[in-house]
Amino acid sequence: MQKLHTLLEKIEQRSEHYIGYPTSIDYNYEELYPFLNYSLNNVGDPYLESNDMHTKEFEREVIEFFSKLFNAPADNHWGYVTNGGSEGNLYGLYLARELYPNGMVYYTESTHYSVQKNIHLLNMDSIVIRSQANGEMDYDDLEVTLQMNRHRPVIILANIGTTMTEAKDHVPTIKECLKKYAIKSSYIHCDAALAGVYLSLLGDHSFDFENGADSIAFSGHKFLGSPITCGVVLVRKSYKDRIGKSIPYIGTLDTTISGSRSGINALIIWYSIQKWGEEGLLKRAQACIENAHYLAEELNQIGVKAWYNQNAFTVVFPKPSPAICKKWQLATENEIAHIICMPGITKEKLDEFVVDLMPVATLSMYAIGL
Ligand SMILES: *Cc1c(COP(=O)(O)O)cnc(C)c1O
Repeated sequence: MQKLHTLLEKIEQRSEHYIGYPTSIDYNYEELYPFLNYSLNNVGDPYLESNDMHTKEFEREVIEFFSKLFNAPADNHWGYVTNGGSEGNLYGLYLARELYPNGMVYYTESTHYSVQKNIHLLNMDSIVIRSQANGEMDYDDLEVTLQMNRHRPVIILANIGTTMTEAKDHVPTIKECLKKYAIKSSYIHCDAALAGVYLSLLGDHSFDFENGADSIAFSGHKFLGSPITCGVVLVRKSYKDRIGKSIPYIGTLDTTISGSRSGINALIIWYSIQKWGEEGLLKRAQACIENAHYLAEELNQIGVKAWYNQNAFTVVFPKPSPAICKKWQLATENEIAHIICMPGITKEKLDEFVVDLMPVATLSMYAIGL
Protein backbone atom coordinates (compact mmCIF):
# COMPACT_ATOMS: atom_id res chain seq x y z
CA MET A 1 0.00 0.00 0.00
CA GLN A 2 3.02 2.25 0.38
CA LYS A 3 3.19 2.31 -3.39
CA LEU A 4 -0.31 3.80 -3.51
CA HIS A 5 0.64 6.51 -1.03
CA THR A 6 3.67 7.41 -3.07
CA LEU A 7 1.54 7.64 -6.19
CA LEU A 8 -1.05 9.81 -4.46
CA GLU A 9 1.63 12.16 -3.16
CA LYS A 10 3.13 12.51 -6.60
CA ILE A 11 -0.27 13.20 -8.14
CA GLU A 12 -1.09 15.77 -5.46
CA GLN A 13 2.19 17.53 -6.13
CA ARG A 14 1.93 17.49 -9.90
CA SER A 15 -1.69 18.66 -9.86
CA GLU A 16 -0.42 21.95 -8.41
CA HIS A 17 1.10 22.81 -11.78
CA TYR A 18 -1.41 21.30 -14.14
CA ILE A 19 -2.51 24.14 -16.41
CA GLY A 20 -1.51 22.90 -19.85
CA TYR A 21 -4.36 20.42 -20.34
CA PRO A 22 -8.10 21.08 -20.32
CA THR A 23 -9.45 19.53 -17.15
CA SER A 24 -11.60 21.39 -14.62
CA ILE A 25 -10.48 21.02 -11.04
CA ASP A 26 -13.34 22.62 -9.11
CA TYR A 27 -15.60 19.59 -8.77
CA ASN A 28 -16.67 17.49 -5.83
CA TYR A 29 -18.53 14.25 -6.40
CA GLU A 30 -18.44 12.89 -2.84
CA GLU A 31 -22.23 12.46 -2.89
CA LEU A 32 -21.79 9.88 -5.62
CA TYR A 33 -19.15 7.82 -3.79
CA PRO A 34 -21.69 5.24 -2.42
CA PHE A 35 -22.49 4.31 -6.01
CA LEU A 36 -18.91 3.16 -6.44
CA ASN A 37 -19.79 0.05 -4.44
CA TYR A 38 -21.84 -1.25 -7.36
CA SER A 39 -21.13 -2.34 -10.91
CA LEU A 40 -23.47 0.00 -12.71
CA ASN A 41 -23.56 -0.79 -16.39
CA ASN A 42 -25.54 1.18 -18.97
CA VAL A 43 -24.97 -1.49 -21.60
CA GLY A 44 -26.43 -0.76 -25.03
CA ASP A 45 -28.99 1.89 -25.95
CA PRO A 46 -29.77 4.39 -23.15
CA TYR A 47 -33.39 4.69 -24.31
CA LEU A 48 -34.06 0.97 -23.96
CA GLU A 49 -34.15 -0.95 -20.71
CA SER A 50 -31.54 -3.58 -19.98
CA ASN A 51 -31.00 -5.30 -16.60
CA ASP A 52 -31.62 -3.26 -13.43
CA MET A 53 -28.12 -2.27 -12.39
CA HIS A 54 -27.90 0.88 -14.47
CA THR A 55 -28.45 4.64 -14.44
CA LYS A 56 -30.11 5.01 -17.85
CA GLU A 57 -32.84 7.28 -16.54
CA PHE A 58 -30.14 9.77 -15.51
CA GLU A 59 -28.29 9.25 -18.76
CA ARG A 60 -31.44 10.14 -20.69
CA GLU A 61 -31.80 13.34 -18.68
CA VAL A 62 -28.22 14.19 -19.59
CA ILE A 63 -28.94 13.60 -23.27
CA GLU A 64 -32.14 15.66 -23.12
CA PHE A 65 -30.34 18.56 -21.40
CA PHE A 66 -27.62 18.79 -24.02
CA SER A 67 -30.00 18.14 -26.92
CA LYS A 68 -31.85 21.26 -25.84
CA LEU A 69 -28.64 23.22 -25.34
CA PHE A 70 -27.50 22.32 -28.86
CA ASN A 71 -30.97 22.88 -30.39
CA ALA A 72 -31.39 19.32 -31.60
CA PRO A 73 -34.75 18.68 -33.28
CA ALA A 74 -37.26 17.87 -30.52
CA ASP A 75 -38.53 14.74 -32.25
CA ASN A 76 -35.33 13.59 -33.88
CA HIS A 77 -32.39 13.39 -31.47
CA TRP A 78 -30.51 10.65 -29.72
CA GLY A 79 -27.22 10.22 -27.94
CA TYR A 80 -25.32 8.45 -25.21
CA VAL A 81 -22.66 8.97 -22.57
CA THR A 82 -19.33 7.89 -24.04
CA ASN A 83 -15.91 7.23 -22.59
CA GLY A 84 -14.67 10.55 -23.97
CA GLY A 85 -14.57 12.92 -26.89
CA SER A 86 -12.63 10.52 -29.12
CA GLU A 87 -15.37 7.89 -28.90
CA GLY A 88 -17.97 10.55 -29.71
CA ASN A 89 -16.00 11.56 -32.80
CA LEU A 90 -15.68 7.93 -33.83
CA TYR A 91 -19.44 7.56 -33.46
CA GLY A 92 -20.19 10.65 -35.58
CA LEU A 93 -17.87 9.43 -38.33
CA TYR A 94 -19.33 5.92 -38.11
CA LEU A 95 -22.87 7.24 -38.69
CA ALA A 96 -21.59 9.38 -41.56
CA ARG A 97 -19.97 6.36 -43.18
CA GLU A 98 -23.11 4.24 -42.81
CA LEU A 99 -25.10 7.02 -44.50
CA TYR A 100 -22.48 7.71 -47.17
CA PRO A 101 -20.21 4.69 -47.71
CA ASN A 102 -18.61 6.53 -50.61
CA GLY A 103 -18.13 9.75 -48.64
CA MET A 104 -14.91 11.71 -48.38
CA VAL A 105 -13.93 13.14 -44.98
CA TYR A 106 -12.53 16.69 -44.83
CA TYR A 107 -10.74 17.90 -41.72
CA THR A 108 -8.06 20.49 -41.07
CA GLU A 109 -4.45 20.03 -40.12
CA SER A 110 -5.29 21.43 -36.65
CA THR A 111 -7.60 18.51 -35.89
CA HIS A 112 -7.13 16.36 -32.78
CA TYR A 113 -4.88 13.33 -33.37
CA SER A 114 -7.69 10.87 -32.58
CA VAL A 115 -9.65 11.82 -35.67
CA GLN A 116 -7.05 10.47 -38.08
CA LYS A 117 -7.05 7.21 -36.15
CA ASN A 118 -10.85 7.06 -36.24
CA ILE A 119 -10.84 7.61 -40.01
CA HIS A 120 -8.27 4.84 -40.33
CA LEU A 121 -10.34 2.47 -38.16
CA LEU A 122 -13.40 3.16 -40.28
CA ASN A 123 -11.42 2.78 -43.49
CA MET A 124 -12.74 6.07 -44.89
CA ASP A 125 -11.13 8.27 -47.53
CA SER A 126 -10.10 11.67 -46.29
CA ILE A 127 -8.41 14.92 -47.24
CA VAL A 128 -6.59 17.32 -44.94
CA ILE A 129 -7.53 20.99 -45.37
CA ARG A 130 -5.16 23.80 -44.53
CA SER A 131 -5.65 25.89 -41.41
CA GLN A 132 -5.41 29.65 -41.09
CA ALA A 133 -2.79 31.06 -38.72
CA ASN A 134 -5.25 31.05 -35.80
CA GLY A 135 -6.02 27.35 -36.29
CA GLU A 136 -9.37 27.82 -38.04
CA MET A 137 -10.19 26.10 -41.33
CA ASP A 138 -8.91 27.79 -44.49
CA TYR A 139 -12.19 28.00 -46.38
CA ASP A 140 -10.49 28.84 -49.68
CA ASP A 141 -8.58 25.60 -49.45
CA LEU A 142 -11.82 23.79 -48.60
CA GLU A 143 -13.44 25.23 -51.72
CA VAL A 144 -10.61 24.21 -54.00
CA THR A 145 -10.57 20.71 -52.56
CA LEU A 146 -14.36 20.34 -52.70
CA GLN A 147 -14.35 21.35 -56.34
CA MET A 148 -11.98 18.53 -57.20
CA ASN A 149 -14.12 15.91 -55.47
CA ARG A 150 -17.64 17.18 -56.00
CA HIS A 151 -18.88 13.83 -57.32
CA ARG A 152 -18.53 12.29 -53.83
CA PRO A 153 -20.61 12.86 -50.67
CA VAL A 154 -18.91 15.28 -48.32
CA ILE A 155 -18.29 14.49 -44.65
CA ILE A 156 -16.96 17.46 -42.70
CA LEU A 157 -15.24 17.03 -39.37
CA ALA A 158 -15.56 20.56 -37.97
CA ASN A 159 -13.40 21.62 -35.04
CA ILE A 160 -15.29 23.56 -32.42
CA GLY A 161 -12.19 24.44 -30.46
CA THR A 162 -8.94 22.98 -31.81
CA THR A 163 -6.51 21.29 -29.47
CA MET A 164 -3.72 23.86 -29.64
CA THR A 165 -5.38 27.24 -30.20
CA GLU A 166 -9.07 26.56 -29.53
CA ALA A 167 -10.03 27.81 -32.99
CA LYS A 168 -13.54 27.20 -34.29
CA ASP A 169 -14.37 26.17 -37.83
CA HIS A 170 -17.42 28.23 -38.83
CA VAL A 171 -20.17 25.80 -39.78
CA PRO A 172 -22.37 28.37 -41.62
CA THR A 173 -19.40 29.28 -43.85
CA ILE A 174 -18.77 25.59 -44.52
CA LYS A 175 -22.46 25.16 -45.42
CA GLU A 176 -22.16 28.04 -47.87
CA CYS A 177 -19.23 26.34 -49.60
CA LEU A 178 -21.27 23.14 -49.90
CA LYS A 179 -24.13 25.10 -51.41
CA LYS A 180 -21.89 26.97 -53.81
CA TYR A 181 -20.65 23.73 -55.33
CA ALA A 182 -24.13 22.17 -55.27
CA ILE A 183 -23.02 19.29 -53.08
CA LYS A 184 -26.10 17.12 -52.70
CA SER A 185 -25.01 14.71 -49.99
CA SER A 186 -23.19 15.98 -46.94
CA TYR A 187 -22.76 15.32 -43.26
CA ILE A 188 -21.22 17.60 -40.64
CA HIS A 189 -19.82 16.27 -37.38
CA CYS A 190 -18.73 18.82 -34.79
CA ASP A 191 -15.83 17.92 -32.54
CA ALA A 192 -16.73 20.16 -29.62
CA ALA A 193 -14.71 18.20 -27.07
CA LEU A 194 -13.53 21.11 -24.97
CA ALA A 195 -15.58 24.13 -25.93
CA GLY A 196 -19.02 22.99 -27.10
CA VAL A 197 -20.85 23.27 -23.81
CA TYR A 198 -19.62 26.70 -22.82
CA LEU A 199 -19.84 28.18 -26.31
CA SER A 200 -23.54 27.35 -26.37
CA LEU A 201 -24.00 28.79 -22.89
CA LEU A 202 -22.17 31.94 -23.99
CA GLY A 203 -24.58 32.30 -26.90
CA ASP A 204 -22.50 30.98 -29.81
CA HIS A 205 -24.85 28.57 -31.54
CA SER A 206 -23.10 28.61 -34.91
CA PHE A 207 -22.20 24.91 -34.69
CA ASP A 208 -25.43 23.46 -33.28
CA PHE A 209 -28.08 21.29 -34.94
CA GLU A 210 -30.07 24.30 -36.15
CA ASN A 211 -26.99 25.59 -37.93
CA GLY A 212 -26.11 22.41 -39.74
CA ALA A 213 -24.54 19.89 -37.36
CA ASP A 214 -25.60 16.28 -37.86
CA SER A 215 -23.75 15.13 -34.77
CA ILE A 216 -21.85 16.77 -31.92
CA ALA A 217 -19.42 15.21 -29.45
CA PHE A 218 -17.82 16.64 -26.32
CA SER A 219 -15.78 15.41 -23.35
CA GLY A 220 -17.25 15.31 -19.84
CA HIS A 221 -13.94 15.50 -18.01
CA LYS A 222 -12.99 18.81 -19.61
CA PHE A 223 -15.34 21.74 -18.95
CA LEU A 224 -17.88 19.94 -16.76
CA GLY A 225 -15.17 18.13 -14.84
CA SER A 226 -14.93 14.46 -13.93
CA PRO A 227 -12.43 12.17 -12.19
CA ILE A 228 -13.31 9.52 -14.79
CA THR A 229 -12.90 10.30 -18.45
CA CYS A 230 -16.26 10.48 -20.16
CA GLY A 231 -18.20 12.39 -22.80
CA VAL A 232 -21.44 12.79 -24.66
CA VAL A 233 -22.33 12.24 -28.30
CA LEU A 234 -25.54 13.63 -29.79
CA VAL A 235 -26.90 12.71 -33.21
CA ARG A 236 -30.01 12.99 -35.34
CA LYS A 237 -32.03 9.94 -34.30
CA SER A 238 -33.09 8.99 -37.81
CA TYR A 239 -29.42 8.37 -38.65
CA LYS A 240 -28.88 6.22 -35.59
CA ASP A 241 -31.94 4.11 -36.38
CA ARG A 242 -30.15 2.80 -39.45
CA ILE A 243 -27.43 1.05 -37.48
CA GLY A 244 -28.77 -0.62 -34.29
CA LYS A 245 -28.89 -4.40 -34.08
CA SER A 246 -31.06 -6.21 -31.53
CA ILE A 247 -28.98 -8.44 -29.25
CA PRO A 248 -31.08 -10.93 -27.26
CA TYR A 249 -28.22 -11.61 -24.81
CA ILE A 250 -28.31 -8.07 -23.40
CA GLY A 251 -32.02 -7.53 -24.07
CA THR A 252 -31.47 -4.20 -25.80
CA LEU A 253 -30.26 -2.61 -29.02
CA ASP A 254 -26.54 -2.47 -29.69
CA THR A 255 -26.41 1.12 -30.87
CA THR A 256 -23.28 2.26 -29.00
CA ILE A 257 -19.59 1.75 -29.75
CA SER A 258 -18.51 0.18 -26.48
CA GLY A 259 -20.85 -2.53 -25.20
CA SER A 260 -20.60 -2.13 -21.44
CA ARG A 261 -20.65 1.50 -20.41
CA SER A 262 -20.08 2.90 -16.95
CA GLY A 263 -23.28 3.94 -15.17
CA ILE A 264 -21.16 6.21 -12.96
CA ASN A 265 -20.21 8.49 -15.86
CA ALA A 266 -23.85 9.31 -16.53
CA LEU A 267 -24.32 10.10 -12.83
CA ILE A 268 -21.28 12.37 -12.81
CA ILE A 269 -22.47 14.43 -15.76
CA TRP A 270 -26.02 14.52 -14.41
CA TYR A 271 -24.76 15.67 -11.02
CA SER A 272 -22.66 18.39 -12.57
CA ILE A 273 -25.71 19.78 -14.43
CA GLN A 274 -27.83 19.64 -11.26
CA LYS A 275 -25.20 21.19 -9.09
CA TRP A 276 -24.26 24.14 -11.28
CA GLY A 277 -27.44 24.60 -13.27
CA GLU A 278 -27.33 26.39 -16.61
CA GLU A 279 -26.82 29.75 -14.92
CA GLY A 280 -24.00 28.43 -12.74
CA LEU A 281 -22.25 26.80 -15.68
CA LEU A 282 -22.47 30.07 -17.62
CA LYS A 283 -20.95 32.06 -14.74
CA ARG A 284 -18.21 29.47 -14.45
CA ALA A 285 -17.47 29.86 -18.17
CA GLN A 286 -17.42 33.65 -17.95
CA ALA A 287 -14.90 33.48 -15.11
CA CYS A 288 -12.63 31.33 -17.28
CA ILE A 289 -12.83 33.75 -20.21
CA GLU A 290 -11.98 36.57 -17.84
CA ASN A 291 -8.99 34.60 -16.54
CA ALA A 292 -7.80 33.94 -20.08
CA HIS A 293 -7.92 37.66 -20.89
CA TYR A 294 -6.13 38.40 -17.64
CA LEU A 295 -3.36 35.91 -18.36
CA ALA A 296 -2.85 37.16 -21.92
CA GLU A 297 -2.60 40.73 -20.67
CA GLU A 298 -0.12 39.80 -17.94
CA LEU A 299 2.01 37.93 -20.47
CA ASN A 300 1.89 40.76 -22.98
CA GLN A 301 3.00 43.14 -20.25
CA ILE A 302 6.18 41.17 -19.68
CA GLY A 303 6.83 41.03 -23.42
CA VAL A 304 5.47 37.56 -24.16
CA LYS A 305 3.32 37.69 -27.28
CA ALA A 306 0.21 35.92 -26.01
CA TRP A 307 -3.11 35.75 -27.84
CA TYR A 308 -6.44 33.92 -27.81
CA ASN A 309 -9.31 33.14 -30.12
CA GLN A 310 -12.76 34.56 -29.39
CA ASN A 311 -14.58 32.96 -26.44
CA ALA A 312 -11.58 30.72 -25.75
CA PHE A 313 -10.16 29.54 -22.44
CA THR A 314 -6.89 28.83 -24.25
CA VAL A 315 -4.06 31.38 -24.21
CA VAL A 316 -1.39 30.76 -26.85
CA PHE A 317 2.19 32.05 -26.64
CA PRO A 318 5.70 31.20 -27.90
CA LYS A 319 7.07 28.00 -26.43
CA PRO A 320 9.06 28.78 -23.24
CA SER A 321 12.12 26.89 -21.99
CA PRO A 322 11.96 23.10 -21.59
CA ALA A 323 12.24 23.50 -17.80
CA ILE A 324 9.11 25.67 -17.67
CA CYS A 325 7.24 23.39 -20.06
CA LYS A 326 8.07 20.46 -17.83
CA LYS A 327 7.23 22.16 -14.54
CA TRP A 328 3.85 23.41 -15.78
CA GLN A 329 3.17 20.36 -17.98
CA LEU A 330 2.63 22.57 -21.01
CA ALA A 331 1.48 21.04 -24.26
CA THR A 332 3.58 22.36 -27.13
CA GLU A 333 3.40 22.11 -30.90
CA ASN A 334 6.06 23.47 -33.19
CA GLU A 335 6.89 26.90 -31.74
CA ILE A 336 3.81 27.46 -29.61
CA ALA A 337 2.57 26.48 -26.17
CA HIS A 338 -0.71 27.15 -24.40
CA ILE A 339 -2.38 27.41 -21.05
CA ILE A 340 -6.03 26.54 -20.74
CA CYS A 341 -7.79 28.58 -18.06
CA MET A 342 -10.14 25.84 -16.88
CA PRO A 343 -12.65 26.18 -14.03
CA GLY A 344 -10.81 26.03 -10.73
CA ILE A 345 -7.57 27.52 -12.01
CA THR A 346 -7.14 30.73 -10.05
CA LYS A 347 -5.59 34.08 -10.96
CA GLU A 348 -3.00 33.37 -8.24
CA LYS A 349 -1.96 30.22 -10.07
CA LEU A 350 -1.69 32.16 -13.33
CA ASP A 351 0.36 34.85 -11.56
CA GLU A 352 2.70 32.17 -10.29
CA PHE A 353 3.24 31.03 -13.87
CA VAL A 354 3.83 34.56 -15.14
CA VAL A 355 6.44 35.14 -12.43
CA ASP A 356 8.18 31.92 -13.44
CA LEU A 357 8.30 33.11 -17.02
CA MET A 358 9.50 36.56 -16.17
CA PRO A 359 13.31 36.28 -16.10
CA VAL A 360 13.34 34.62 -19.50
CA ALA A 361 10.93 37.16 -20.96
CA THR A 362 12.86 40.06 -19.52
CA LEU A 363 16.01 38.68 -21.08
CA SER A 364 14.41 38.40 -24.49
CA MET A 365 13.16 41.97 -24.18
CA TYR A 366 16.76 43.03 -23.71
CA ALA A 367 17.72 40.90 -26.67
CA ILE A 368 15.37 42.76 -28.99
CA GLY A 369 16.46 46.10 -27.56
CA LEU A 370 13.46 47.22 -25.51
C1 LIG B 1 -9.78 16.43 -25.89
C2 LIG B 1 -10.14 16.50 -27.31
C3 LIG B 1 -10.48 15.36 -28.03
C4 LIG B 1 -10.44 13.99 -27.44
O1 LIG B 1 -11.33 13.85 -26.37
P1 LIG B 1 -11.06 12.75 -25.25
O2 LIG B 1 -12.14 13.04 -24.27
O3 LIG B 1 -9.67 12.99 -24.74
O4 LIG B 1 -11.20 11.42 -25.90
C5 LIG B 1 -10.84 15.50 -29.36
N1 LIG B 1 -10.85 16.70 -29.94
C6 LIG B 1 -10.52 17.81 -29.28
C7 LIG B 1 -10.58 19.13 -29.99
C8 LIG B 1 -10.15 17.76 -27.94
O5 LIG B 1 -9.85 18.89 -27.29
